[in-house]
Amino acid sequence: MKSQFDFIFFDADDTLLDFSQSARRAFALTLDEVAIPEREGMYALYQLCNHETWREYEDGKISAVQLRTIRFERFLVRAGLGWAADPAEMNTRFLNNLVQFAELLPGARELLEELRSQFGLALITNGLKEVQRRRLAHLKVDSYFSAIVVSDEIGLAKPDPAYFNYVLAQVGNPERERVLVVGDNIYSDIQGGQQAGMATCWYNPNGKERSAETEPTFEIAQLSALPGLLLAE
Ligand SMILES: [Mg+2]
Repeated sequence: MKSQFDFIFFDADDTLLDFSQSARRAFALTLDEVAIPEREGMYALYQLCNHETWREYEDGKISAVQLRTIRFERFLVRAGLGWAADPAEMNTRFLNNLVQFAELLPGARELLEELRSQFGLALITNGLKEVQRRRLAHLKVDSYFSAIVVSDEIGLAKPDPAYFNYVLAQVGNPERERVLVVGDNIYSDIQGGQQAGMATCWYNPNGKERSAETEPTFEIAQLSALPGLLLAE
């Protein structure tokens, strides 16, 4: 059966890579390395600071350089740790630890293996240049993609339509309706893909509620559900 799509653009973190798991481990090791004893609630606080800072980056309010230190600066201040550690050093250590603890989500490799012969695959990620390619290489999944576009390397980030235009150009400017964007983030992946004129598939394993204004073309709770959708007319 022929698919209505020729290209699939995959988000990386929490779509193919288990970011939650590796970030949790990387954070614990980072605290250990800077001699801050971990207390309950610290990771949740860091996640809050990180999420807030990433959103400001995605909205173009701060640069990726600022993002690196601001997220740890906020964490230290709000945890009442003041200058117990250097935020820039924590960021560097955290990123190195992220590479070490990189993991794929269950079924991700099998999915890529199944799709690679029939579709052009691109990896679209809002990530930092020190780590994204190293994590993909560490997991040996970089070779599945004809293009890997790291926001920090090109100075554009999802959901900016200019980011998606850049990716399209990297894979030879296919017609937009022949491209499916797959990701877990309703804002950067789904809203972004839609605004750039592409079909979208929201990977929503935890049954999150979505905002009324963004309606993905497809929604899946398991990666293994994707191949079936791609072949349905
Ligand atoms: Mg993601």
